[in-house]
Amino acid sequence: MSWSIKIATVKGIDIRIHLTFLLILLWAAFNWGIARPGGWPGMVYGVTLIVLVFACVVLHELAHSLLAQSFGVRVRGITLLPIGGVAQMESVPQRPVQELLMAAAGPAINLALSAVLLVLAMAVGSLSGLPMRTPQDVLGLAGALGPLSLLVELALANVALAAFNLAPAFPMDGGRVLRAVLALALPYEMATQIAVAVGQGLALLLGLWGFFQGDLLLVLIAVFVYLGAEQEGNEVRVQSTLRGMQACHILSRDPLVLAPDTTLGQALDLTPHGHQIDFPVLQTGQLAGILTREGLLQGLRERDPATPVQAVMHTEYPTAVPTATLAALRRQMIEGGWRVVAIIDQGRFVGLLTLADIGEAFMMLSATRHAHADNAPIGGCERPIDS
Ligand SMILES: [Zn+2]
Repeated sequence: MSWSIKIATVKGIDIRIHLTFLLILLWAAFNWGIARPGGWPGMVYGVTLIVLVFACVVLHELAHSLLAQSFGVRVRGITLLPIGGVAQMESVPQRPVQELLMAAAGPAINLALSAVLLVLAMAVGSLSGLPMRTPQDVLGLAGALGPLSLLVELALANVALAAFNLAPAFPMDGGRVLRAVLALALPYEMATQIAVAVGQGLALLLGLWGFFQGDLLLVLIAVFVYLGAEQEGNEVRVQSTLRGMQACHILSRDPLVLAPDTTLGQALDLTPHGHQIDFPVLQTGQLAGILTREGLLQGLRERDPATPVQAVMHTEYPTAVPTATLAALRRQMIEGGWRVVAIIDQGRFVGLLTLADIGEAFMMLSATRHAHADNAPIGGCERPIDS
């Protein structure tokens, strides 16, 4: 994620802060220093409280991430945004029990933190001679600008974090917990569909309630939850439809290939002859670069048609092996902003695969797999492509 700076690394997981996060510190300074006139002490209090709340958010995300790592899921990093934290994971553990534990770990940390903070506040309060007999005595400490108030408000923030994240709606942790519980008894895809429907139903209710209350923030959260649930449902549908499919299953066997000194004009002449819009440029059997349609058109606008393609081809591109799964490749391309990936087998160029190819495979498979509900096993790819 760009616009973010790394602040720490824990067990190989980079923790980053998005620069817009600074806005919420400004808001805290304003809210505690000026809006409720606390002056400088108020500003310091507000900023400290928000920094500590986000430290708890980091612990929440780390709980998810470290457990995910122990289940073999790769975690690329944690990013702090003004709306909370996001852990970027490469996959979801396929065993429902693992997903259940992983999703519940975050809110569990917040509940544990709130208990520890409240006990600490009560201990410090008693030592200072304050009455600490009823819950009201403890909660009454909040709202002042001192360390005791800080402990209590931080504890309450942790309760709120746990409650918000446990709402049974994707993309919140509660949605994952619900899916995992359902998946103990139902197929994974059906469990996801039910969890998505529950999440979207809750989002609609929340949105309507927010609308009639005139609370724009609630409406925005409802929209965010609704779309997040939709995205999760689509993602699972794509992943499960593409299950078992590898790059070699859909690679075109004889792609048109260019040489580095092929001219832009010659390359243009080749494009109307087929579906192929990206061309591998090979030099002595090795992939030297990729000429994309955009690259070709831009080259023709800016240069002479006699220019060799090597002047405009992309020399940086992602690569993958023929046995890479389509689901993983699709994710890799979307996240990296790539449209095409070069398939290389032991140093030998095999073919190009595009997001459009994967999309086409998805549409074909959804039609056929729908017709024959049995997911017929797909053969392996041990055989070299050109044999
Ligand atoms: Zn979480």
